Amino acid sequence: MRKAIIIGAGIAGIASAIRMAVKGYSVEVFESNPYAGGKLSEINIQGFRFDAGPSLFTMPQYVDELFTLAGKNPKDYFEYEKLDEICRYFYEDGLKLTAYADVTKFGAELAEKTNSNAAEVDSFLAKSKIIYAVTHKVFLERTLHKVKSYLHWDTLKSVFRFGNIDAFRTQNKANESFFKDRRIVQLFNRYATYNGSNPYQAPATLNVIPHFEYHFGAFLPKKGMYSITLALVKLAEDVGVKFDFNQKVDAIDYQNKKIKGILVGGKFVAADTVISNLDIWFTYKTLLKNLPPPTKLLNQERSSSALIFYWGIKNIHPDLDLHNILFASSYETEFDTIWKEKSIPHDPTIYINITSKHIKNDAPEGCENWFVMINVPANNGQEWDQLIKEARQNIIEKINRILKKDISEDIICEEILDPRSIEFKTGSYQGSLYGNSSNNQFAAFLRHPNFISKISGLYFCGGSVHPGGGIPLALLSAKIIGDEIG
Ligand code: FAD
Repeated sequence: MRKAIIIGAGIAGIASAIRMAVKGYSVEVFESNPYAGGKLSEINIQGFRFDAGPSLFTMPQYVDELFTLAGKNPKDYFEYEKLDEICRYFYEDGLKLTAYADVTKFGAELAEKTNSNAAEVDSFLAKSKIIYAVTHKVFLERTLHKVKSYLHWDTLKSVFRFGNIDAFRTQNKANESFFKDRRIVQLFNRYATYNGSNPYQAPATLNVIPHFEYHFGAFLPKKGMYSITLALVKLAEDVGVKFDFNQKVDAIDYQNKKIKGILVGGKFVAADTVISNLDIWFTYKTLLKNLPPPTKLLNQERSSSALIFYWGIKNIHPDLDLHNILFASSYETEFDTIWKEKSIPHDPTIYINITSKHIKNDAPEGCENWFVMINVPANNGQEWDQLIKEARQNIIEKINRILKKDISEDIICEEILDPRSIEFKTGSYQGSLYGNSSNNQFAAFLRHPNFISKISGLYFCGGSVHPGGGIPLALLSAKIIGDEIG
């Protein structure tokens, strides 16, 4: 029986394992942590449960597909609900908006409370739909690195429509042309941060992202985001995958341009196929030390990182829902501070995710689990301890200002994740959340391919390689590998 080894049990590693097992391989996953999921894991403190990383679930069809592929019913493993409210937005000038999944309702909300209207949203989302139609087969679902990808009829059709993907102006410029109200420009600029980029530099092609939410929907697994990991691990085990935790792989072994296996804990384990789920930077720097690295590609600017406070909160805060954004008064200043000064803005945009609004067991009675996150630069050795202290104070003051109440006494327990601990816990170079940034129009072509011609039998999956970061794209990297292996 052919053997496949997967290095890393992040979401793409687990998905790759399932795909290889379904193909008839004997599959073993080596994971350095004592648990699966990588960034998609959870934290439990004093009766509060938090999803550690991702909080927004889009494109669940890519998860469901894995169950179907294995001949199983996804509902036997985990369930999720479609959200009626995508997000609540709060502005320093007192404006509060609810982004309803129902676009007509969202348009009416804008018309009632802002200088924008339903027609603006409609034409923006029509453009998002076109970008999706042109890009998804070419940029998301296939490798960009083989001629055969360009020979499909749908790819050729897309190539002729490339002019429609809005790659030659920034996302902010495009959004200014769609929306009269600058606060709505800000709302849609925020989508650049979904892959750790800067809307004042990233191409307007990123306006494809709202299509995921407003067309396909925003979802929440009924037992939280971490249940996606647990469900996929269970599925993997059901199709015969073996997981080895606390096993940090030391090297990938190859000879005569052909994969031989891996070295782990001083032992050699043979395999016909090795799939690395590590950040591509660490794959080259630690596992493939003798192979000349693709330096230009590895030196691309990294995506942003995050500073997260996991707060157990006493009291219920009815103004807030599952997803909440408290916007910075100047978005441009915020991004300049992150990207040019490589520091933490004084007035950051704050994201508060509260799963206990929907999942009662995530917090004790009368309490809430607040996941409070701001975007910060990737780790370049900043004075993080001092920056975090100042940021914590600024965040609390901003929340107090916007919610018009003092929440500082409500925080009954706390854990903090910052770029250093993200790098340490998930092996993400510089703690960036999504691999390289997409701050230029060529970024899609500068992500590492899912394979290399130098070593046959070696593949790469996960958020730092093609097609990109975030759960849906990480899952697609596994799908592309599956299709390549045939
Ligand atoms: P990773 O999660 O990066 O896991 C890699 C695994 O490899 C880890 O388990 C690590 O321990 C293991 N490993 C590393 N080195 C070794 C070694 N030598 N040997 C063995 N194992 C090793 N995405 C969304 O879709 N929606 C969101 O709302 C969202 N929000 C996010 C918020 C935060 C705070 C973070 C951190 C990420 C967020 N993301 C979000 C991004 C998403 O989490 C990632 O893109 C995705 O989970 C990456 O998965 P991956 O397969 O690349 O593996």
